[in-house]
Amino acid sequence: MRDFFDFNISRQLLNAIEDLKFDKPTPIQEQSYAVIQSGKDVVGIAQTGTGKTFAYMLPILQNLKFSKQVSPRVLIMVPTRELVLQVVEQIKSYTAYMSTRIVGVYGGTNINTQMMDVAQGCDILVATPGRLYDLIIARAVQLNSIKKLVIDEVDVMLDLGFRYQLTNILDLLPEKRQNIMYSATMTEEVDLLIDDYFISPERISIAVSGTPLEHIEQTAYPVPNFYTKVNLLEFLLADRQVFNKVLVFTSTKKGADYLAEAIELRYGSQLAVLHANKSQNYRIRSIEEFEEGVKRILITTDVMARGLDLTQVSHVINFDTPAYPENYLHRIGRTGRAEQEGKTILFFTPKEEEPKGAIETLMNYEIPVLEFPEVVEVSSRKSPDERPDTDGGKNPNRNIKQVERGAAFHEKKEKNKKTNQGGSYLRKMKRYKKPKTKGDKIGNRKRKK
Ligand code: ADP
Ligand code: MG
Repeated sequence: MRDFFDFNISRQLLNAIEDLKFDKPTPIQEQSYAVIQSGKDVVGIAQTGTGKTFAYMLPILQNLKFSKQVSPRVLIMVPTRELVLQVVEQIKSYTAYMSTRIVGVYGGTNINTQMMDVAQGCDILVATPGRLYDLIIARAVQLNSIKKLVIDEVDVMLDLGFRYQLTNILDLLPEKRQNIMYSATMTEEVDLLIDDYFISPERISIAVSGTPLEHIEQTAYPVPNFYTKVNLLEFLLADRQVFNKVLVFTSTKKGADYLAEAIELRYGSQLAVLHANKSQNYRIRSIEEFEEGVKRILITTDVMARGLDLTQVSHVINFDTPAYPENYLHRIGRTGRAEQEGKTILFFTPKEEEPKGAIETLMNYEIPVLEFPEVVEVSSRKSPDERPDTDGGKNPNRNIKQVERGAAFHEKKEKNKKTNQGGSYLRKMKRYKKPKTKGDKIGNRKRKK
C-alpha cells in the first residue's frame, strides 16, 4: 500500500495529514488521486466511512492556487445541513496550514448572514442544492468561476428529491469544468444524471468490505413475476422461528411501498417500511422497532439501508435483483456481521437474470439456485410495472402458462426496457474498474442524520 508521500503533495498538506494521524490513504483515496488530478470527470463509489471527503479534497487542494478573488472556484454540493457542517469542518482540518477560504451554506437558517459570508469571498463553497439555488436567484453567488464541481452523497441527494435544484444548478455552471461525484450506492437516477452531465467519466468502485462473504449463505429463487414474488415471500415469512429478523430490499421507494401494501394483510403488524419519503421520526421508530424485535420484517431501499447498523439479522431478502452489482454486496453485508452466520435469498425474474450474472461476476461466485417451492402459487396478476401499455394488464386471455413461459417479459413499458437489452449490464460493468476485495480499514461509521 502506498503512503501519502507517494502522492507528491505539498508540505502544508503533509503537515495536516500528520496532525490528523492518517497513516496511509484509504483505497478510495489511493485510487482517486491521480484520476482527479488528471482533470477528467470522475464517479467514485465506496461505502460510507471510507474517507471519500479526503479522496476528492486532497487532489483538489493540491491543485488549488492562492487567490483573492471573490467568486468560488470549487463547489461542493451535499444533501443535508449536517453534511455541510461536517464537510466544512473536514476541509478546515485539511487546510490548517493553508490560507484557503471555505464557506458553507444550507437551508433552515437566515439567508442574509450567509449572503454576507459569501460576499466576503471564498475559494471553496460547500452547499445544499436548495439554499445554493436560492442564493443564485438572489444574485448573491456567482458560479462563473467554478472549475471543479463535487457532488457528494449524490444517491441521498436524489433520494431526498433534490434532482430539480441539482440540475438547475448544473445548467448554470460554466461548461468547462471538472465534474466529480461520490456516492455509496449506484441507482438508476444517479446513472441518468451522469449520462446527462458527465463527459466520459472515469469510474472508481471499491467493493464493500468488513463482511467476509464466507459468513453468508447465499441462495436464489427463480420467480416469474412480482405477485409470485409476493406469494413466495409470504410463504417464507410464515416460518417465524427461522425467519425471525428479516430485512427485505427493493430498489425503489415505490417498490417498497408497493410490496408493503401487498403483504400488509398477512404481515402488517410485524412490518416496518423505511425509505426517504417517510418522516424522520417514522424512520427512527422503524429502525428501533426492527432492532428491538417489535417488528420482525423491515422493507427498505438501497439508499436508505447504507448507514444501518443492525444486529443479528436472520435473513436479507433481495425482493428484486439490484441493477448495480455493488448494491447486492451492500445489501447482503447487513447480515452475517460480527462472525455470525447470515443468510440471504435473491428473487430473480427472467429479466433479472442478467443483473444476477453481473453480481456473480463481481463476486466471482455463482449463487446456488433453489427450486421454486411447489406449494407456492404462481400468480398471473401483473404489477403496474409489468403491465404492457397496450391493454393495461386487463387482457383476460393472459393465463398462468404464458407467464410461466416468460411471455410477459417481452411486453414491457419503454422505460423499463433498460435492463433487457442483451449485454447492457456487462457493458456497464466494464466501465467500472475492477473492484478490490479488501477495502476500508476504518470500519463502518454510523451515518449522522
Ligand atoms: P465517507 O465520506 O466515505 O463516509 P469520510 O470522508 O467522512 O467518509 O471519512 C470518514 C472518517 O475517516 C473521517 O473521520 C475521516 O477523518 C477519517 N479518515 C479519512 N481518511 C483517512 C485516512 N487516510 N486514514 C485514517 N482516517 C481517515
Ligand atoms: Mg462523505
